[in-house]
Amino acid sequence: MLKDAQEILKHYYGHEAFRDGQETIMQHLFSGASAIGIMPTGGGKSICYQIPSQLLNGVTLVISPLISLMKDQVDELKEAGIPATFLNSSLSQEEGAERFRAVRRGEYSLVYIAPERLESPSFMNMLRNLHVSLVAVDEAHCLSQWGHDFRPSYMRIPEFLAQIHPAPPVLALTATATPEVAADIRRLLDIPQERTVLTGFTRENLSFHVHKGIDRDKFIRDYVKENAKQSGIIYAATRKEVERLGAKLKKAGIAAGTYHGGMSSDERKEMQDAFVYDELTVMVATNAFGMGINKSNVRFVIHAQMPRNIESYYQEAGRAGRDGSPSECILLFHPQDTRIQQFLIDQSDLAEDRKKNEYDKLQDIVNFCHTEGCLERYILDYFGDPESDTCGKCSSCIDERSVVDITKEAQMVLSCIKRMDERFGKTIVAQVLVGSSNQKMKDFSFQRLSTYGLMKGAGQKEVMQLIDYLVASRYIALSGGQYPVLKLTEHALPVLKNEEKVMRKQTVQPKKITEDDPL
Ligand code: ADP
Repeated sequence: MLKDAQEILKHYYGHEAFRDGQETIMQHLFSGASAIGIMPTGGGKSICYQIPSQLLNGVTLVISPLISLMKDQVDELKEAGIPATFLNSSLSQEEGAERFRAVRRGEYSLVYIAPERLESPSFMNMLRNLHVSLVAVDEAHCLSQWGHDFRPSYMRIPEFLAQIHPAPPVLALTATATPEVAADIRRLLDIPQERTVLTGFTRENLSFHVHKGIDRDKFIRDYVKENAKQSGIIYAATRKEVERLGAKLKKAGIAAGTYHGGMSSDERKEMQDAFVYDELTVMVATNAFGMGINKSNVRFVIHAQMPRNIESYYQEAGRAGRDGSPSECILLFHPQDTRIQQFLIDQSDLAEDRKKNEYDKLQDIVNFCHTEGCLERYILDYFGDPESDTCGKCSSCIDERSVVDITKEAQMVLSCIKRMDERFGKTIVAQVLVGSSNQKMKDFSFQRLSTYGLMKGAGQKEVMQLIDYLVASRYIALSGGQYPVLKLTEHALPVLKNEEKVMRKQTVQPKKITEDDPL
Protein backbone atom coordinates (compact mmCIF):
# COMPACT_ATOMS: atom_id res chain seq x y z
CA MET A 1 0.00 0.00 0.00
CA LEU A 2 2.96 2.27 0.55
CA LYS A 3 3.59 2.36 -3.17
CA ASP A 4 0.06 3.59 -3.74
CA ALA A 5 0.59 6.14 -0.99
CA GLN A 6 3.62 7.42 -2.86
CA GLU A 7 1.53 7.74 -6.00
CA ILE A 8 -1.07 9.81 -4.15
CA LEU A 9 1.63 12.00 -2.65
CA LYS A 10 2.86 12.80 -6.14
CA HIS A 11 -0.43 12.95 -7.93
CA TYR A 12 -2.60 14.86 -5.45
CA TYR A 13 -0.04 16.84 -3.48
CA GLY A 14 2.80 17.21 -5.96
CA HIS A 15 5.46 16.13 -3.45
CA GLU A 16 8.28 13.83 -4.41
CA ALA A 17 9.12 11.98 -1.21
CA PHE A 18 7.72 11.38 2.24
CA ARG A 19 9.10 13.34 5.12
CA ASP A 20 10.55 11.96 8.28
CA GLY A 21 7.93 9.96 10.14
CA GLN A 22 5.15 10.04 7.55
CA GLU A 23 5.99 6.66 6.07
CA THR A 24 6.38 4.93 9.45
CA ILE A 25 3.05 6.26 10.65
CA MET A 26 1.27 5.05 7.52
CA GLN A 27 2.90 1.64 7.77
CA HIS A 28 1.43 1.24 11.26
CA LEU A 29 -2.00 2.29 10.03
CA PHE A 30 -1.92 0.04 6.96
CA SER A 31 -1.11 -2.90 9.21
CA GLY A 32 -4.23 -2.07 11.23
CA ALA A 33 -2.36 -0.73 14.27
CA SER A 34 -2.91 2.54 16.11
CA ALA A 35 -0.09 5.05 16.39
CA ILE A 36 0.85 8.42 17.80
CA GLY A 37 2.75 10.94 15.70
CA ILE A 38 4.58 13.74 17.46
CA MET A 39 5.86 16.09 14.79
CA PRO A 40 6.61 19.79 14.81
CA THR A 41 4.24 22.35 13.36
CA GLY A 42 4.62 22.28 9.59
CA GLY A 43 6.08 18.78 9.81
CA GLY A 44 3.37 17.35 7.58
CA LYS A 45 0.99 15.64 9.97
CA SER A 46 -2.15 15.98 7.86
CA ILE A 47 -0.88 13.78 5.05
CA CYS A 48 -0.50 10.93 7.54
CA TYR A 49 -4.27 10.46 7.65
CA GLN A 50 -5.31 12.13 4.41
CA ILE A 51 -3.45 9.68 2.20
CA PRO A 52 -4.62 6.56 4.09
CA SER A 53 -8.17 7.90 3.85
CA GLN A 54 -7.89 7.44 0.08
CA LEU A 55 -6.51 3.94 0.30
CA LEU A 56 -8.46 2.34 3.13
CA ASN A 57 -11.88 0.96 2.49
CA GLY A 58 -14.37 3.09 4.44
CA VAL A 59 -14.52 6.53 6.02
CA THR A 60 -11.71 8.28 7.85
CA LEU A 61 -12.95 10.45 10.70
CA VAL A 62 -10.76 13.34 11.79
CA ILE A 63 -11.51 14.81 15.19
CA SER A 64 -10.25 18.36 15.27
CA PRO A 65 -10.97 21.25 17.65
CA LEU A 66 -10.36 23.87 14.99
CA ILE A 67 -13.91 24.40 13.78
CA SER A 68 -13.07 27.71 12.13
CA LEU A 69 -10.46 26.00 9.97
CA MET A 70 -12.44 22.98 8.87
CA LYS A 71 -14.06 24.70 5.94
CA ASP A 72 -10.74 25.97 4.57
CA GLN A 73 -9.11 22.58 5.03
CA VAL A 74 -11.95 20.82 3.30
CA ASP A 75 -12.00 23.33 0.45
CA GLU A 76 -8.30 22.78 -0.11
CA LEU A 77 -8.76 19.02 -0.15
CA LYS A 78 -11.63 19.23 -2.56
CA GLU A 79 -9.54 21.36 -4.84
CA ALA A 80 -6.85 18.68 -4.79
CA GLY A 81 -9.54 16.15 -5.74
CA ILE A 82 -10.00 14.46 -2.37
CA PRO A 83 -13.66 13.92 -1.38
CA ALA A 84 -13.74 15.52 2.05
CA THR A 85 -16.37 17.20 4.18
CA PHE A 86 -16.98 18.36 7.73
CA LEU A 87 -19.64 18.12 10.39
CA ASN A 88 -19.72 20.78 13.07
CA SER A 89 -21.89 23.31 14.81
CA SER A 90 -21.59 25.82 11.95
CA LEU A 91 -24.09 23.74 9.96
CA SER A 92 -27.84 24.03 10.39
CA GLN A 93 -29.70 20.93 11.48
CA GLU A 94 -30.90 20.35 7.94
CA GLU A 95 -27.49 20.82 6.40
CA GLY A 96 -26.05 18.46 8.99
CA ALA A 97 -28.64 15.80 8.26
CA GLU A 98 -28.05 16.06 4.53
CA ARG A 99 -24.31 15.70 5.03
CA PHE A 100 -24.90 12.67 7.22
CA ARG A 101 -26.81 11.05 4.43
CA ALA A 102 -24.14 11.87 1.87
CA VAL A 103 -21.48 10.37 4.14
CA ARG A 104 -23.58 7.26 4.50
CA ARG A 105 -24.01 7.05 0.75
CA GLY A 106 -20.23 6.87 0.56
CA GLU A 107 -19.70 10.24 -1.11
CA TYR A 108 -16.89 11.20 1.24
CA SER A 109 -13.86 9.27 2.36
CA LEU A 110 -12.62 11.93 4.77
CA VAL A 111 -14.88 13.56 7.34
CA TYR A 112 -13.75 16.22 9.80
CA ILE A 113 -15.75 16.37 13.00
CA ALA A 114 -15.67 18.64 16.00
CA PRO A 115 -15.30 16.78 19.32
CA GLU A 116 -18.60 18.27 20.48
CA ARG A 117 -20.34 16.10 17.86
CA LEU A 118 -19.44 13.05 19.88
CA GLU A 119 -22.02 14.07 22.43
CA SER A 120 -24.84 13.93 19.91
CA PRO A 121 -26.93 10.71 20.02
CA SER A 122 -28.01 11.16 16.38
CA PHE A 123 -24.39 11.30 15.30
CA MET A 124 -23.63 8.14 17.24
CA ASN A 125 -26.61 6.51 15.61
CA MET A 126 -25.37 7.33 12.16
CA LEU A 127 -22.05 5.76 12.98
CA ARG A 128 -23.62 2.41 13.58
CA ASN A 129 -24.12 1.91 9.87
CA LEU A 130 -20.87 3.36 8.78
CA HIS A 131 -17.66 1.55 8.05
CA VAL A 132 -14.99 3.61 9.79
CA SER A 133 -11.56 2.69 8.51
CA LEU A 134 -9.48 5.13 10.56
CA VAL A 135 -9.94 7.73 13.27
CA ALA A 136 -7.41 10.56 13.41
CA VAL A 137 -7.27 12.69 16.54
CA ASP A 138 -5.72 16.01 15.67
CA GLU A 139 -4.22 18.21 18.42
CA ALA A 140 -4.22 15.10 20.58
CA HIS A 141 -2.57 16.90 23.51
CA CYS A 142 -6.04 18.35 24.20
CA LEU A 143 -6.84 14.92 25.66
CA SER A 144 -4.42 15.19 28.52
CA GLN A 145 -5.12 17.08 31.69
CA TRP A 146 -1.36 17.62 31.93
CA GLY A 147 -1.13 19.22 28.51
CA HIS A 148 -1.36 22.95 28.03
CA ASP A 149 -4.67 22.95 26.24
CA PHE A 150 -6.89 20.35 27.86
CA ARG A 151 -10.40 20.27 26.37
CA PRO A 152 -13.15 18.48 28.25
CA SER A 153 -14.91 17.59 24.97
CA TYR A 154 -11.87 15.44 24.11
CA MET A 155 -12.59 13.27 27.15
CA ARG A 156 -15.42 11.70 25.17
CA ILE A 157 -13.10 10.30 22.54
CA PRO A 158 -12.11 7.02 24.28
CA GLU A 159 -15.75 6.22 24.98
CA PHE A 160 -16.64 7.11 21.41
CA LEU A 161 -13.95 4.84 20.00
CA ALA A 162 -15.20 1.95 22.09
CA GLN A 163 -18.53 2.16 20.27
CA ILE A 164 -17.13 1.74 16.77
CA HIS A 165 -17.16 -1.85 15.49
CA PRO A 166 -14.96 -3.26 14.18
CA ALA A 167 -12.43 -1.12 16.05
CA PRO A 168 -10.49 1.00 13.56
CA PRO A 169 -6.85 2.02 14.02
CA VAL A 170 -6.46 5.38 15.72
CA LEU A 171 -3.88 7.99 14.82
CA ALA A 172 -3.14 10.60 17.47
CA LEU A 173 -1.28 13.67 16.23
CA THR A 174 0.27 16.55 18.08
CA ALA A 175 3.09 19.04 17.78
CA THR A 176 3.41 19.76 21.46
CA ALA A 177 3.57 16.80 23.78
CA THR A 178 5.99 16.41 26.64
CA PRO A 179 6.87 12.76 27.40
CA GLU A 180 4.24 12.74 30.19
CA VAL A 181 1.53 14.06 27.90
CA ALA A 182 2.42 11.56 25.17
CA ALA A 183 2.15 8.73 27.72
CA ASP A 184 -1.23 10.03 28.80
CA ILE A 185 -2.50 10.11 25.20
CA ARG A 186 -1.28 6.54 24.60
CA ARG A 187 -3.02 5.35 27.74
CA LEU A 188 -6.31 7.04 26.86
CA LEU A 189 -6.36 5.88 23.25
CA ASP A 190 -4.83 2.46 23.86
CA ILE A 191 -1.79 3.00 21.68
CA PRO A 192 1.22 0.79 22.43
CA GLN A 193 4.43 2.62 23.40
CA GLU A 194 6.31 1.16 20.42
CA ARG A 195 3.88 2.83 18.02
CA THR A 196 5.20 6.24 18.94
CA VAL A 197 6.62 8.11 16.00
CA LEU A 198 8.60 11.08 17.22
CA THR A 199 10.35 13.08 14.56
CA GLY A 200 12.89 15.67 15.59
CA PHE A 201 11.43 18.82 17.08
CA THR A 202 14.29 20.92 15.80
CA ARG A 203 13.36 23.69 13.43
CA GLU A 204 16.77 24.23 11.91
CA ASN A 205 16.01 27.63 10.44
CA LEU A 206 14.72 29.22 13.66
CA SER A 207 16.96 31.04 16.10
CA PHE A 208 15.74 31.82 19.60
CA HIS A 209 16.51 34.97 21.53
CA VAL A 210 15.54 36.18 24.99
CA HIS A 211 16.01 39.82 25.98
CA LYS A 212 15.53 40.86 29.57
CA GLY A 213 15.23 44.21 31.23
CA ILE A 214 15.04 46.27 28.06
CA ASP A 215 12.63 48.97 26.88
CA ARG A 216 10.27 46.67 25.04
CA ASP A 217 8.43 49.28 22.99
CA LYS A 218 11.68 50.76 21.75
CA PHE A 219 13.09 47.34 20.92
CA ILE A 220 10.02 46.38 18.92
CA ARG A 221 9.87 49.67 17.05
CA ASP A 222 13.57 49.58 16.18
CA TYR A 223 13.48 45.92 15.21
CA VAL A 224 10.47 46.32 12.96
CA LYS A 225 12.00 49.37 11.31
CA GLU A 226 15.29 47.61 10.74
CA ASN A 227 13.44 44.69 9.19
CA ALA A 228 11.01 46.87 7.31
CA LYS A 229 10.37 44.55 4.39
CA GLN A 230 9.96 41.44 6.48
CA SER A 231 6.74 39.86 7.61
CA GLY A 232 6.41 39.28 11.31
CA ILE A 233 4.03 38.55 14.17
CA ILE A 234 4.16 40.31 17.51
CA TYR A 235 2.33 38.48 20.25
CA ALA A 236 1.07 40.48 23.21
CA ALA A 237 -0.60 39.11 26.32
CA THR A 238 -3.83 41.12 26.32
CA ARG A 239 -6.23 42.75 23.86
CA LYS A 240 -5.47 46.12 25.39
CA GLU A 241 -1.78 45.63 24.88
CA VAL A 242 -2.39 44.56 21.26
CA GLU A 243 -4.32 47.77 20.60
CA ARG A 244 -1.69 49.90 22.30
CA LEU A 245 1.28 48.37 20.49
CA GLY A 246 -0.54 48.29 17.16
CA ALA A 247 -1.37 51.99 17.42
CA LYS A 248 2.22 52.82 18.33
CA LEU A 249 3.61 50.97 15.34
CA LYS A 250 1.12 52.52 12.94
CA LYS A 251 2.04 55.93 14.27
CA ALA A 252 5.66 55.11 13.53
CA GLY A 253 4.67 54.51 9.90
CA ILE A 254 4.62 50.72 9.98
CA ALA A 255 1.97 48.73 8.12
CA ALA A 256 0.77 46.94 11.23
CA GLY A 257 -2.52 45.14 11.76
CA THR A 258 -4.13 44.00 14.98
CA TYR A 259 -5.93 40.77 15.78
CA HIS A 260 -7.63 39.57 18.94
CA GLY A 261 -10.74 37.80 20.17
CA GLY A 262 -12.55 41.04 20.94
CA MET A 263 -12.80 41.96 17.26
CA SER A 264 -15.71 40.87 15.07
CA SER A 265 -15.08 37.84 12.88
CA ASP A 266 -15.27 40.05 9.77
CA GLU A 267 -12.63 42.39 11.12
CA ARG A 268 -10.42 39.48 12.03
CA LYS A 269 -10.81 37.89 8.62
CA GLU A 270 -9.95 41.16 6.94
CA MET A 271 -6.81 41.58 9.04
CA GLN A 272 -5.77 38.00 8.52
CA ASP A 273 -6.17 38.22 4.74
CA ALA A 274 -4.29 41.51 4.58
CA PHE A 275 -1.43 39.89 6.45
CA VAL A 276 -1.43 36.69 4.41
CA TYR A 277 -1.40 38.71 1.16
CA ASP A 278 1.43 40.92 2.40
CA GLU A 279 -0.59 44.12 2.54
CA LEU A 280 0.34 44.30 6.20
CA THR A 281 3.90 43.51 7.16
CA VAL A 282 3.38 43.13 10.88
CA MET A 283 0.53 41.60 12.84
CA VAL A 284 0.18 42.49 16.50
CA ALA A 285 -2.00 39.84 18.07
CA THR A 286 -3.04 37.85 21.07
CA ASN A 287 -2.62 34.10 20.97
CA ALA A 288 -6.01 33.94 19.18
CA PHE A 289 -4.02 34.55 16.01
CA GLY A 290 -2.16 31.88 14.16
CA MET A 291 -3.92 28.55 14.38
CA GLY A 292 -3.79 27.17 10.89
CA ILE A 293 -2.61 30.35 9.22
CA ASN A 294 -0.54 29.06 6.41
CA LYS A 295 1.74 32.01 5.81
CA SER A 296 5.11 30.58 5.04
CA ASN A 297 7.29 33.71 4.86
CA VAL A 298 6.95 34.97 8.44
CA ARG A 299 10.51 36.08 9.21
CA PHE A 300 10.13 36.90 12.89
CA VAL A 301 7.87 36.27 15.85
CA ILE A 302 8.33 38.59 18.80
CA HIS A 303 6.67 37.89 22.12
CA ALA A 304 6.21 41.24 23.81
CA GLN A 305 5.33 39.36 27.00
CA MET A 306 6.28 35.93 28.20
CA PRO A 307 3.61 33.34 27.33
CA ARG A 308 2.33 30.93 29.95
CA ASN A 309 4.32 27.84 29.06
CA ILE A 310 6.87 26.34 26.69
CA GLU A 311 4.23 24.50 24.64
CA SER A 312 2.39 27.71 23.78
CA TYR A 313 5.66 29.48 23.17
CA TYR A 314 7.04 26.89 20.77
CA GLN A 315 3.75 26.70 18.91
CA GLU A 316 3.51 30.47 18.51
CA ALA A 317 7.20 31.05 17.80
CA GLY A 318 7.02 28.14 15.34
CA ARG A 319 4.79 30.19 13.05
CA ALA A 320 7.99 31.82 11.86
CA GLY A 321 9.91 30.33 8.98
CA ARG A 322 7.59 27.66 7.69
CA ASP A 323 9.26 28.09 4.31
CA GLY A 324 12.57 26.94 5.79
CA SER A 325 14.37 30.30 5.50
CA PRO A 326 16.24 31.68 8.53
CA SER A 327 13.83 33.37 10.94
CA GLU A 328 14.05 34.83 14.43
CA CYS A 329 11.96 34.10 17.51
CA ILE A 330 12.41 36.76 20.15
CA LEU A 331 11.01 36.76 23.66
CA LEU A 332 11.06 39.99 25.64
CA PHE A 333 11.00 39.20 29.33
CA HIS A 334 10.05 41.33 32.29
CA PRO A 335 9.60 39.94 35.84
CA GLN A 336 6.11 41.45 35.87
CA ASP A 337 5.11 38.86 33.21
CA THR A 338 5.58 36.07 35.73
CA ARG A 339 3.38 37.77 38.29
CA ILE A 340 0.61 38.31 35.74
CA GLN A 341 0.69 34.66 34.72
CA GLN A 342 0.71 33.55 38.37
CA PHE A 343 -2.28 35.76 39.00
CA LEU A 344 -4.15 34.33 36.00
CA ILE A 345 -3.53 30.77 37.17
CA ASP A 346 -4.59 31.68 40.67
CA GLN A 347 -7.82 33.27 39.42
CA SER A 348 -8.67 30.38 37.09
CA ASP A 349 -11.24 27.84 38.22
CA LEU A 350 -8.90 24.90 37.71
CA ALA A 351 -8.72 22.17 40.33
CA GLU A 352 -5.77 22.42 42.72
CA ASP A 353 -3.66 19.71 41.09
CA ARG A 354 -4.09 21.27 37.67
CA LYS A 355 -3.19 24.67 39.06
CA LYS A 356 -0.02 23.18 40.40
CA ASN A 357 0.69 21.71 36.99
CA GLU A 358 0.22 25.15 35.42
CA TYR A 359 2.52 26.77 37.97
CA ASP A 360 5.18 24.16 37.22
CA LYS A 361 4.87 24.80 33.49
CA LEU A 362 5.08 28.52 34.11
CA GLN A 363 8.28 28.00 36.07
CA ASP A 364 9.71 26.03 33.15
CA ILE A 365 9.28 28.98 30.82
CA VAL A 366 10.60 31.41 33.43
CA ASN A 367 13.68 29.20 33.61
CA PHE A 368 13.91 29.32 29.82
CA CYS A 369 14.12 33.11 30.13
CA HIS A 370 16.89 32.91 32.72
CA THR A 371 18.99 30.05 31.48
CA GLU A 372 22.38 30.75 29.99
CA GLY A 373 22.41 27.39 28.25
CA CYS A 374 21.35 26.87 24.62
CA LEU A 375 17.72 27.94 24.23
CA GLU A 376 16.97 25.50 21.44
CA ARG A 377 18.36 22.63 23.54
CA TYR A 378 16.21 23.78 26.44
CA ILE A 379 13.07 23.47 24.32
CA LEU A 380 14.07 20.13 22.81
CA ASP A 381 14.87 18.73 26.27
CA TYR A 382 11.48 19.89 27.43
CA PHE A 383 9.80 17.83 24.72
CA GLY A 384 12.07 14.84 25.32
CA ASP A 385 13.82 15.14 21.96
CA PRO A 386 17.20 13.42 22.32
CA GLU A 387 18.99 15.74 19.86
CA SER A 388 22.04 16.84 21.82
CA ASP A 389 23.96 19.54 19.97
CA THR A 390 23.71 23.17 20.94
CA CYS A 391 22.33 25.37 18.18
CA GLY A 392 25.14 27.91 17.98
CA LYS A 393 22.77 30.69 17.00
CA CYS A 394 20.47 31.48 19.94
CA SER A 395 21.04 34.46 22.22
CA SER A 396 22.73 32.20 24.78
CA CYS A 397 25.03 30.50 22.27
CA ILE A 398 26.16 33.81 20.79
CA ASP A 399 26.57 35.55 24.16
CA GLU A 400 30.27 36.36 24.27
CA ARG A 401 30.52 37.63 27.83
CA SER A 402 33.15 35.78 29.78
CA VAL A 403 32.24 32.95 32.09
CA VAL A 404 33.23 33.56 35.67
CA ASP A 405 33.23 31.51 38.85
CA ILE A 406 30.34 32.63 41.09
CA THR A 407 30.51 29.72 43.52
CA LYS A 408 30.97 32.02 46.47
CA GLU A 409 27.91 34.15 45.66
CA ALA A 410 25.89 31.01 44.96
CA GLN A 411 26.90 29.62 48.36
CA MET A 412 25.71 32.82 50.03
CA VAL A 413 22.29 32.50 48.42
CA LEU A 414 21.94 28.77 49.02
CA SER A 415 22.99 28.93 52.65
CA CYS A 416 20.65 31.86 53.26
CA ILE A 417 17.71 29.86 51.89
CA LYS A 418 18.69 27.01 54.16
CA ARG A 419 19.01 29.24 57.22
CA MET A 420 15.52 30.57 56.47
CA ASP A 421 14.25 26.98 56.61
CA GLU A 422 13.26 27.01 52.94
CA ARG A 423 10.04 28.79 53.80
CA PHE A 424 10.34 32.11 51.96
CA GLY A 425 10.22 33.56 48.47
CA LYS A 426 12.74 35.30 46.27
CA THR A 427 12.14 38.87 47.41
CA ILE A 428 12.55 38.20 51.12
CA VAL A 429 15.61 36.02 50.63
CA ALA A 430 17.19 38.81 48.57
CA GLN A 431 16.27 41.38 51.23
CA VAL A 432 17.92 39.30 53.93
CA LEU A 433 21.06 38.93 51.82
CA VAL A 434 21.40 42.64 51.14
CA GLY A 435 20.61 43.45 54.77
CA SER A 436 17.36 45.32 54.27
CA SER A 437 15.96 46.99 57.34
CA ASN A 438 12.26 46.72 56.49
CA GLN A 439 9.61 45.60 58.95
CA LYS A 440 9.56 41.99 57.75
CA MET A 441 13.20 41.60 58.77
CA LYS A 442 12.25 42.65 62.28
CA ASP A 443 9.03 40.61 62.41
CA PHE A 444 10.87 37.42 61.57
CA SER A 445 14.10 38.36 63.40
CA PHE A 446 16.05 37.82 60.20
CA GLN A 447 18.75 40.18 61.46
CA ARG A 448 19.89 37.42 63.72
CA LEU A 449 20.68 35.09 60.83
CA SER A 450 24.35 34.67 60.00
CA THR A 451 23.49 35.25 56.34
CA TYR A 452 21.81 38.62 57.01
CA GLY A 453 23.59 41.37 55.07
CA LEU A 454 26.04 38.93 53.52
CA MET A 455 25.66 40.69 50.20
CA LYS A 456 25.53 44.19 51.57
CA GLY A 457 26.39 46.58 48.80
CA ALA A 458 24.73 44.56 46.09
CA GLY A 459 21.33 45.73 44.83
CA GLN A 460 18.25 43.72 45.72
CA LYS A 461 17.37 43.42 42.03
CA GLU A 462 20.81 42.09 41.22
CA VAL A 463 20.51 39.44 43.93
CA MET A 464 17.05 38.50 42.69
CA GLN A 465 18.49 38.02 39.20
CA LEU A 466 21.19 35.80 40.67
CA ILE A 467 18.46 33.74 42.36
CA ASP A 468 16.60 33.47 39.03
CA TYR A 469 19.78 32.19 37.45
CA LEU A 470 20.30 29.62 40.24
CA VAL A 471 16.69 28.48 39.79
CA ALA A 472 17.13 28.18 36.02
CA SER A 473 20.35 26.24 36.67
CA ARG A 474 18.39 23.87 38.96
CA TYR A 475 20.23 24.56 42.24
CA ILE A 476 17.03 26.00 43.65
CA ALA A 477 13.47 24.84 43.07
CA LEU A 478 10.39 26.97 43.44
CA SER A 479 7.33 25.47 45.04
CA GLY A 480 4.42 26.12 42.68
CA GLY A 481 1.89 28.71 43.74
CA GLN A 482 1.13 32.36 43.49
CA TYR A 483 3.76 33.04 46.15
CA PRO A 484 6.44 30.48 45.39
CA VAL A 485 8.89 29.46 48.08
CA LEU A 486 12.57 28.76 47.40
CA LYS A 487 13.89 25.31 48.22
CA LEU A 488 17.29 23.74 47.64
CA THR A 489 17.55 20.89 45.13
CA GLU A 490 19.95 17.95 45.31
CA HIS A 491 22.37 19.96 43.15
CA ALA A 492 22.80 22.56 45.91
CA LEU A 493 24.60 20.35 48.42
CA PRO A 494 27.78 19.75 46.38
CA VAL A 495 28.01 23.53 45.89
CA LEU A 496 27.62 24.22 49.60
CA LYS A 497 30.26 21.57 50.33
CA ASN A 498 32.65 23.19 47.89
CA GLU A 499 32.65 20.08 45.73
CA GLU A 500 31.16 21.77 42.71
CA LYS A 501 31.62 25.17 41.10
CA VAL A 502 28.90 27.45 39.78
CA MET A 503 29.74 29.38 36.64
CA ARG A 504 27.91 32.27 35.05
CA LYS A 505 28.31 34.67 32.21
CA GLN A 506 29.03 37.70 34.25
CA THR A 507 26.66 40.55 34.76
CA VAL A 508 26.82 40.91 38.55
CA GLN A 509 29.84 42.83 39.81
CA PRO A 510 31.49 40.49 42.33
CA LYS A 511 33.44 43.27 43.99
CA LYS A 512 30.22 44.72 45.38
CA ILE A 513 29.63 41.64 47.44
CA THR A 514 31.41 41.34 50.80
CA GLU A 515 34.01 38.64 51.15
CA ASP A 516 32.72 37.15 54.42
CA ASP A 517 32.60 33.41 54.40
CA PRO A 518 28.94 32.45 54.39
CA LEU A 519 29.39 29.06 55.96
P1 ADP B 1 1.33 20.14 10.26
O1 ADP B 1 -0.11 19.72 10.30
O2 ADP B 1 2.26 19.09 10.79
O3 ADP B 1 1.60 21.48 10.88
P2 ADP B 1 0.88 20.18 7.45
O4 ADP B 1 0.31 18.83 7.34
O5 ADP B 1 -0.03 21.35 7.39
O6 ADP B 1 1.76 20.30 8.76
O7 ADP B 1 2.02 20.34 6.37
C1 ADP B 1 2.81 21.49 6.30
C2 ADP B 1 3.26 21.71 4.87
O8 ADP B 1 4.19 20.72 4.47
C3 ADP B 1 2.11 21.65 3.87
O9 ADP B 1 2.26 22.72 2.98
C4 ADP B 1 2.31 20.31 3.18
O10 ADP B 1 1.82 20.31 1.86
C5 ADP B 1 3.82 20.16 3.22
N1 ADP B 1 4.23 18.74 3.16
C6 ADP B 1 3.71 17.72 3.88
N2 ADP B 1 4.33 16.57 3.55
C7 ADP B 1 5.26 16.85 2.63
C8 ADP B 1 6.22 16.08 1.90
N3 ADP B 1 6.34 14.78 2.08
N4 ADP B 1 7.01 16.72 1.02
C9 ADP B 1 6.90 18.06 0.85
N5 ADP B 1 6.01 18.84 1.49
C10 ADP B 1 5.20 18.26 2.38
